[in-house]
Amino acid sequence: MINFQYARANDVADAVRMMAADPAAKFIAGGTNLIDLMKEDVERPSRLIDISRLPLKSVEETADGGLRIGALVPNSDLAYHPLVAQRYPLLGSAILAGASQQLRNMASTGGNLLQRTRCAYFYDTATPCNKREPGSGCSARNGLNRMHAILGFSESCIATHPSDMCVALAALDAKVHVAGPSGEREIAFADFHRLPRTTPQRDTNLHPDEIVTAAELPAQSFAKNYTYLKIRDRLSYAFALVSVAAALELDGDTIKEARLALGGVAHKPWRDTSAEAALRGKAATPATFTHAAELVLRDAKGFAHNAFKIDLARRVIVRALTQAAQGTPQSQSNKKIR
Ligand SMILES: Cc1cc2nc3c(=O)[nH]c(=O)nc-3n(C[C@H](O)[C@H](O)[C@H](O)COP(=O)(O)OP(=O)(O)OC[C@H]3O[C@@H](n4cnc5c(N)ncnc54)[C@H](O)[C@@H]3O)c2cc1C
Ligand code: SF4
Repeated sequence: MINFQYARANDVADAVRMMAADPAAKFIAGGTNLIDLMKEDVERPSRLIDISRLPLKSVEETADGGLRIGALVPNSDLAYHPLVAQRYPLLGSAILAGASQQLRNMASTGGNLLQRTRCAYFYDTATPCNKREPGSGCSARNGLNRMHAILGFSESCIATHPSDMCVALAALDAKVHVAGPSGEREIAFADFHRLPRTTPQRDTNLHPDEIVTAAELPAQSFAKNYTYLKIRDRLSYAFALVSVAAALELDGDTIKEARLALGGVAHKPWRDTSAEAALRGKAATPATFTHAAELVLRDAKGFAHNAFKIDLARRVIVRALTQAAQGTPQSQSNKKIR
C-alpha cells in the first residue's frame, strides 16, 4: 500500500492553490484513468486533490454562437446534451464510440483530455518506458507495437493518444480554457497535446500547476455532413486502431469547408490542415477523398506489427469523407435515450 493524502477543493482558486503548494499532487475528477494508474504503480501522487464537486458541470452557449463545456461535464451527459446532439453530433458520436456507458458516466471532459496512453509497456513497470521513466528506453519500438503510432512519433516514444472525444474536438477546432497561479488562459486545441519528441513524459502543454476549466467550441458545427468512424478489434469497449472525424460543409457537390482529424495514429489527435485545404473548393468525389488521404499519410511509417494501419487509415479516411458527404454517418447515434 502506497500512502497518499486526499483533499477536496472548494473552488477553482482553491484547487490551484493546493496544487501550487504540492507539485507532486494530482487532480482527480472521475478517477477512471488515474486510479488505474495508481493501482498499477505508474502514478504515485503525494495527494489527490478532488475537483469533482467544483462548479464546472454546465454546458452553455457562448456570445458568438459556440458552446462552452465545463471540465467536469460527464462524457455521457455531454454526448446526450440536446445542444450537442442537435448542433455538434460529431462530438456526441465520438464520445459514444469510447469506453462503456458506465465509464462515460464517470469520465469528465477535462479528464478525457488528460487521459494517458494505453501503451501496454507504459502500464508495465517491469519494462523500460521513456514516458513513465525518462531515459529508460522504449520497449514498444522493437516490441508489440500493433496499436502504436504511424505519424509524428520520435526515437523516444511511439505511443498513441487514446481519446475519441479529443479527435472530434480537434476537428471542430476547439479551445481549452485553463486556470493557474498566474491567471486564466486559452490554448488552441491543436497546441494542447504534444508530440513526443525527446520529452514523451509530457503529454500536453498544460503547466503542472494549471487546471482545465472548460473546452469551447466555435459556432461552426458541421451538423449535417459529418462522421466519426472508429475501427477497432471489437465493436465496442476497445481503443481505436484508427479513427477518423470528418466534417464537411457542402454547396451542392462542392466542398466549401472541410475538417479531418485522426485518432489511434499519433501521440496527439492528428488534424491535417493541408489535407483540409486540398479538399476545399473541390468536388466531393472518391478521387478528391483519396488525394486527401494520401496527403494525410504522406509521412506515415509503420513498425513490425502496425504497418497495416497505413493502408487501413487511407481506407477509413476515404470512407469517413464519403459518409460525411452523403450525410449518412454510420457512427452510433447520440439521439438515443439512455
Ligand atoms: C476500460 C476502459 C476503456 C476505455 N475506453 C476508452 C475509449 O475507447 N475511448 C476513449 O476516449 N476513452 C476510453 N477510456 C478512457 C476514459 O475516457 C478516461 O479514463 C476518462 O475520460 C478520464 O476522465 P476522468 O474524469 O475519469 O479522469 P481522471 O482519471 O480523474 O483523471 C485523468 C487525468 O486527468 C487529470 N485531470 C482530470 N481533470 C482535470 C482537470 N480539470 N484539470 C487538470 N487535470 C485534470 C488527472 O489529474 C489525471 O492525470 C477508457 C477507460 C477505461 C478504464
Ligand atoms: S511507446 Fe512510449 S509509452 Fe510505450 S514503451 Fe515506448 S516510451 Fe513508453
